[in-house]
Amino acid sequence: MKISIVIRRLALFFIDLDRFKQINDSLGHDMGDIVLKEVSQRLKAKIRSTDTLARLGGDEFTILMEDLKTPHDAALQGQKIIHVLEQPIHVEGHTLYVTSSIGISLYPEDGDDASHLLKYADAAMYKAKEEGRHNYKFYSSEMIDLAFERVQMETNLYQSLKNEEFVVYYQPQIDGYTDKLIGMEALVRWQHPSKGLIAPDKFLSIAEDTGLIVELDRWVMKTAMTQLVEWYKKGLNPGKLALNLATKQLQEEDFLSMLHDMLIEIGMKPEWLELEITESAIMNNPQHAMAVLKSISELGVELAIDDFGTGYSSLSYLKKLPINKIKIDQSFIRELPFDEKGAGITKSIIALSKSLNLRVVAEGVETSEKRDFLVENGCINIQGYFYSKPIPADKMEVMLQKGLNH
Ligand code: C2E
Ligand code: CA
Ligand code: CA
Repeated sequence: MKISIVIRRLALFFIDLDRFKQINDSLGHDMGDIVLKEVSQRLKAKIRSTDTLARLGGDEFTILMEDLKTPHDAALQGQKIIHVLEQPIHVEGHTLYVTSSIGISLYPEDGDDASHLLKYADAAMYKAKEEGRHNYKFYSSEMIDLAFERVQMETNLYQSLKNEEFVVYYQPQIDGYTDKLIGMEALVRWQHPSKGLIAPDKFLSIAEDTGLIVELDRWVMKTAMTQLVEWYKKGLNPGKLALNLATKQLQEEDFLSMLHDMLIEIGMKPEWLELEITESAIMNNPQHAMAVLKSISELGVELAIDDFGTGYSSLSYLKKLPINKIKIDQSFIRELPFDEKGAGITKSIIALSKSLNLRVVAEGVETSEKRDFLVENGCINIQGYFYSKPIPADKMEVMLQKGLNH
């Protein structure tokens, strides 16, 4: 890439497809190639003759745009790229939803040589991923530290799993009528020797990219199930254990036999367990997900859809899936009870779950007003800071002994 030094504004877009690896892993490389061709065609159709598109390899592309008047123009272009890539791709009977994360660096603001601009756009792209993917981000100088941290984390994660630096926290799920505990969700944290407790948002995407998520999730499953069984053995009543299942986990061929063996080995009754999956994990490859979920359900383990309302769920699939429960996404709960839209969406999700005969739980419930609104509207199961933050096992044990005390 060559950038001539004439004073005019250039923008470098670093585009990376979100969760592309999942397409390759679940549908095969041929399908992955078709998707990449489609993506590059869309990008080609999008750019002007003065722009330069390049594929860096894998699912990474760059576009160098010349003669942009303001950074705002670059933002608009970023939005347009996101939009053109988020349109569904239809291949061989599959409908794929591919989204992208984009980092943008600007000349002359951020630097004046190509290699720096590329490095900066790359760092901004990682930031876009970190903030939930499917968006664009401009470079800022703190990002280079972040990118450095990321590389460090990638190498550290493997070691930390070996060193058992992860811990499982538990967040109670409560019956909002009676204030009684009905179960809990296991949430992983990284107890870093020098950095302290690190939240999952900071390391899960790295664990997903490197594939370490499978091992990590299995460790969480084993640890949390062992803990739950221990509580039952002590005569406590922890209720149902909810575990988050990474998309990748569902795609592992041995997942079912692993789950089956783990339940037996630990002495965990299937009815004590509930697995949470996201809509996108299902919709990514619905046929496959359907088969796996059916088998999980046949084991007697319940299934919940996490972050409901944020993904691309299709009602026709929802009806066919062996799902027992829906978790209303926090973003709707945050707006309750005064925001009309949030309230409307929440009520319709509750109504939908009733009509499909599913239980419903709300998460991210921080205040008594929100709890009351939900309970009055028929969502009895509540999870959120109002009752308790996620807490380590010893604190949870005290709560189980004493009863809830919020
Ligand atoms: P999630 O499954 O949606 O979990 C709920 C998240 O909301 C948790 O964040 C929890 O601490 C937070 N939360 C609960 N109540 C409230 C509230 O009242 N207010 C606010 N502001 N937040 C609340 P956390 O523990 O940081 O986990 C983030 C995400 O990381 C989880 O979102 C889940 O997707 C993922 N995750 C956590 N543990 C695991 C794991 O063991 N395996 C996998 N695959 N994913 C995990
Ligand atoms: Ca969850
Ligand atoms: Ca959730």
